[in-house]
Amino acid sequence: MDYDVVIVGGGPIGCFVGRHIAESGRRVLILEEHGEVGEPPHCAGLVSSEVLSISGVKDDVILNKIRGASIYGYDGTKLSLLGERTYALVIDRILFDKRLAIMAEDRGVELSRGSRVVGFKRDTNEIEVTFVRSGRESKVKTPLVIGADGAYSIVAKFFKLPLPREIIYGFQVEGELNCTNPYQVEVMVDNETSPGWFSWIIPVREDYARIGLGINVKGNPREYLKRLCNKWEPLRSFKDSNIKRIMGGLIPLGLIERSYTDNVMLVGDAAVQLKPLSGGGLYLGLLAGLICSKVALEALDRGDFSSSMLSKYHKLWMKSVGREIKLGLRLRKIFLGLTDKEKSELLRVLDNQEAKSIILSTGNIDHPWRVAYKIMTHIKVPLIARMLSLAFS
Ligand SMILES: Cc1cc2nc3c(=O)[nH]c(=O)nc-3n(C[C@H](O)[C@H](O)[C@H](O)COP(=O)(O)OP(=O)(O)OC[C@H]3O[C@@H](n4cnc5c(N)ncnc54)[C@H](O)[C@@H]3O)c2cc1C
Repeated sequence: MDYDVVIVGGGPIGCFVGRHIAESGRRVLILEEHGEVGEPPHCAGLVSSEVLSISGVKDDVILNKIRGASIYGYDGTKLSLLGERTYALVIDRILFDKRLAIMAEDRGVELSRGSRVVGFKRDTNEIEVTFVRSGRESKVKTPLVIGADGAYSIVAKFFKLPLPREIIYGFQVEGELNCTNPYQVEVMVDNETSPGWFSWIIPVREDYARIGLGINVKGNPREYLKRLCNKWEPLRSFKDSNIKRIMGGLIPLGLIERSYTDNVMLVGDAAVQLKPLSGGGLYLGLLAGLICSKVALEALDRGDFSSSMLSKYHKLWMKSVGREIKLGLRLRKIFLGLTDKEKSELLRVLDNQEAKSIILSTGNIDHPWRVAYKIMTHIKVPLIARMLSLAFS
């Protein structure tokens, strides 16, 4: 056996899992197809402080602290929320990923950059992993493969594990923009400019922001961005010449029924461990990563890599991460069920002291259902009753 564990994908979750397994003295190989970890980036980099505390990444990756949000409807209706505390952090995502990679290597993980996994062969209780590096094919053997290879997971496809129910196509540019309030993110919900999802402006500093959108239909995201800049008031002055960086990526959604098979586990985006309302994947991926590494160590100690042993991982993450995803999927049902007109009406219903103080006191980007639950049980209007019926339909 060449390695105790081979992890496919050197993204944040793969490196985090690898580090935890290597800490116990196990031989871990991470195969990452890109020459540099974290590049190209595909993330808005908006996270809770828990993401830094769980990952152990130092807070010098923080670029900005967010204290609120302005939410816009399709017709310009605006709900502005600004609190005293920090609700979210804007991080340097490339640096964050690189830090996780260095931490993994420091604990003894062998991280092979520029190594694209192209196939697997199953033998009795071991898997031969084939990868290509600098045009040359190599093979390594391991009893345990962990697929941390993101939304297009080759591991999920090869081992016939479930794929995401829904895919959002994300697109983002970064550039110069005068941010009216550099501590407030701006969000627009409008089916014309971001069908099935939303658009965002995340201030990095007073004169620089990340501007992005998601769509759940096939189409040219740049065209949608053009429409957005024409329509959305805070972006009217934003021109192509302001753009400094362009990125795109997939946001997989759903709750998969199985994230393991004999000798294999999936984690992070490969296991669709993302928040269905916002597409944030770092918090849930890290939580599941902790469970994945514990079960991997137990399997190694016992020398048991069977489906029934690894099913423990699935059962455990279903109780915590899976519960969050289930609740998030109910919120997504509401989101998809309401028309643009109703979403604007909702913003108007919430534009008062009582509702705003509920939102600001309960708001938590990792647990959006908490504030949704409080609003739905405190505010009695027909629209809220309709939202409840959508959630449980
Ligand atoms: C537009 C957009 C905005 C987002 N914004 C946020 C946000 O604000 N906050 C948040 O928490 N989340 C956000 N996310 C989600 C977040 O980026 C992911 O959840 C997170 O990156 C998941 O980490 P991961 O390690 O599971 O997968 P990835 O980061 O996708 O890493 C997978 C790695 O596997 C490698 N790989 C894939 N195939 C192979 C192969 N065959 N061989 C070798 N290597 C391979 C890839 O190169 C990659 O490095 C956003 C996503 C998108 C698309």
